[in-house]
Amino acid sequence: MNKKIFYAIWSVTTFVLVAAVAVIIAVFYSSYQADQMEHLKIETELATTGVNQNGVDYLKEISVSEFRITWIRQDGTVLYDNEFSNDEMENHLEREEVRDAIEKGYGQSSRYSDTLSEKSFYAAEKLPDGSILRLCVTQTSLWQLMSKFMVIIVIIVGAGLVFSLILARRLSIRITEPINRMSLENPMQYESDESYAEIRPLLHRLDEQNRQIQHDKAELEKTSMIRQEFTANASHELKTPLHVISGYAELIENGMVKEQDIPVFAGKIRRESQRMTNLVEDIIELSHLDSAAYEEEFESCDLRRIAENTSDSLKQTADEAGVQINVSGPFVVVDGIPSVIHSIIYNLCSNAVKYSFAGGNVEITTEDLGEQAAVHVRDEGVGIAEEEQARIFERFYRVDKSRSKEVGGTGLGLSIVKHAALLHNASLEVKSEVGKGSEFTVTFPKKQN
Ligand code: ADP
Repeated sequence: MNKKIFYAIWSVTTFVLVAAVAVIIAVFYSSYQADQMEHLKIETELATTGVNQNGVDYLKEISVSEFRITWIRQDGTVLYDNEFSNDEMENHLEREEVRDAIEKGYGQSSRYSDTLSEKSFYAAEKLPDGSILRLCVTQTSLWQLMSKFMVIIVIIVGAGLVFSLILARRLSIRITEPINRMSLENPMQYESDESYAEIRPLLHRLDEQNRQIQHDKAELEKTSMIRQEFTANASHELKTPLHVISGYAELIENGMVKEQDIPVFAGKIRRESQRMTNLVEDIIELSHLDSAAYEEEFESCDLRRIAENTSDSLKQTADEAGVQINVSGPFVVVDGIPSVIHSIIYNLCSNAVKYSFAGGNVEITTEDLGEQAAVHVRDEGVGIAEEEQARIFERFYRVDKSRSKEVGGTGLGLSIVKHAALLHNASLEVKSEVGKGSEFTVTFPKKQN
């Protein structure tokens, strides 16, 4: 970047310098020419006066070498010429300055010689007798004139180039130096530094991006920690039933269980296997919900219908627990993934049954809220203490571990509900009182954007 800025500054200053010198030469040369012409006009007037008084003698007397003097009669014949003999001359009447002098009394013109290396200025004036006196001065061309000043021009341009070189170097260093000095980790420390005035917007952008990166990093670390914790917890949760199963199996294998007790042990083994199955199913469901690219399409889902299906599939469990499930409320349609919404209502309803007392009621109610639709799952069970309510949605968190295990809980149901709700942009709310019961409410937007 340093080099780029350097060349940019240097080329601009060099261009300006050369252009300035060229313009000055042009102006100087044209003013020099105008001066010459003016001069020649005065000389011609003087000579005319002289000739008028003394005739050709005057011309012969004033022997001047820097002018060519020609005296022409009205018919074009040359009366006198100080450079050429009279009969060598061609007719002069066609010349512009002579023509002008005959017509208007005075005429002037300038012409390049054949070689272009010389330029001649002519001034002609009419005498009272009608004859014309013409003076001519030949001037060195621009290039010849310039060659006189060449040394000075070269010195000025050379000095200018060296100066612009130094300037370009200094400027490029000054521009890039603050950027090189800048610490990318903490750009805002230069906020009040004057040398950073031009790149202040860049400092702000850098700072903003740094913050974003920090935030993303923290999020990533958090996610990775949650994953690690989850893996550790999941392995632990799976190991427990496995130990129990292998323990019971070993007892049977070693003949330490009486023949009549074997069905009891087999039942225990089956229950533990069921727990493992539940756990593995929940883990699979959770990781499925967790994967960013959830591929299933959203479609119209009727909350009331899904609630009824759930109630039906939990009927046997509810009957065994002595709990009655009732579904009420309007048929209301939301955009969603049917299996995932089913999973939300199923997990909430299954919890409601699990944590109810025998003879209790579980109410699933749908509600149409206009732009939104809600499902409430209410029970008259054990309830959840206020301080536990925020934590129950964490993975493997259980308020009462032994009760959860007893009723076949995995500790993952509510985290599945939380993730599934998130996938639908739905909000999740819990109201509960210990000993009286709980109410979970999921509010869905009817249309997903
Ligand atoms: P679990 O499989 O243990 O039920 P969940 O994630 O579904 O796991 O629930 C987490 C914990 O929240 C449960 O262990 C239980 O203590 C509490 N909980 C959930 N739903 C209810 C409810 N309806 N009534 C009382 N406690 C509940």
